[in-house]
Amino acid sequence: MHELGVTESMLDVVLRHAARNRATGVTRINLVLGDSSTVMEESVRFYFDIIGKDTIAQGAELNFRRVPLKAKCPECGEEFQVVEYDFTCPGCRGTKTEIISGREFQVESIEIS
Ligand SMILES: [Zn+2]
Repeated sequence: MHELGVTESMLDVVLRHAARNRATGVTRINLVLGDSSTVMEESVRFYFDIIGKDTIAQGAELNFRRVPLKAKCPECGEEFQVVEYDFTCPGCRGTKTEIISGREFQVESIEIS
């Protein structure tokens, strides 16, 4: 379960931001999670409950914003949403497309008190 590691990194980022802003509590954590990320939302929630305990982020609401898997074609510049792992460019049928979003897991913002 690599979610423990990614949740630790996430909490670390949150606590550093909170400390920098002299927060006494974190009420909400807004996260970005790519549809094609291997991170499971439920696992992050599960580990956060455990490792967030006794930190100022304890009890914070986790809000996940899902990002679809998107690719871009270097040939014609078309950006498109990847459906069922079909990476073929809908513009020129090219196949050398690159993923531009959908695999990320990061902290977007936090709300503090
Ligand atoms: Zn193309």
